[in-house]
Amino acid sequence: MKFEKVALPYASDALEPVISKTTTEYHYGKHYQAYIDNLNKLIAGTKFENADLETIVKESEGGVFNNAGQALNHALYFTSFKPNGGGLPTGQLAEAIDRSFGSFDKFKEEFSAAGATLFGSGWVWLAKDADGNLSIEKESNAGNPLTKGLTPIFAFDVWEHAYYLDYQNRRADHLKEVWNIIDWDAVGSRY
Ligand code: MN
Repeated sequence: MKFEKVALPYASDALEPVISKTTTEYHYGKHYQAYIDNLNKLIAGTKFENADLETIVKESEGGVFNNAGQALNHALYFTSFKPNGGGLPTGQLAEAIDRSFGSFDKFKEEFSAAGATLFGSGWVWLAKDADGNLSIEKESNAGNPLTKGLTPIFAFDVWEHAYYLDYQNRRADHLKEVWNIIDWDAVGSRY
């Protein structure tokens, strides 16, 4: 299988001022593309050549895992936003957040704190277990909760490439703004 990037569902400047056009152009156009290109090169002629992305993430390690993980993580990340997003989740996801965290505000507080305190590069995930319970999973580097048998719902990308051009070292300030661009309909459809 020859992997490609997911289409960006908004213009590259549509998430300004939360995420600048320059950051989206580098992040989507260069970083994400490099993971896709590396993955396609690494799996050519291997047992993963015709596997789907989720299977590769679950069963690989080393360089294949790093690039497959980042290919999957960025596909979920870039399709979680829309201009003038934010607000509150609805439906089953909203109910599950209340059930698992007490309230949306409590979830938001815990998720933001997890993103601000993750050391180094990685991802903070909202993940679902087989019973529909939600948890916050801190993952280093290319990590994805799929490897723990959980379903990934939503993530903050806390690699510096996601925010450094716009916020420099102020990761917490970036994450605080990201809540204003979340497309809860898109995210909720994964629950
Ligand atoms: Mn990234």
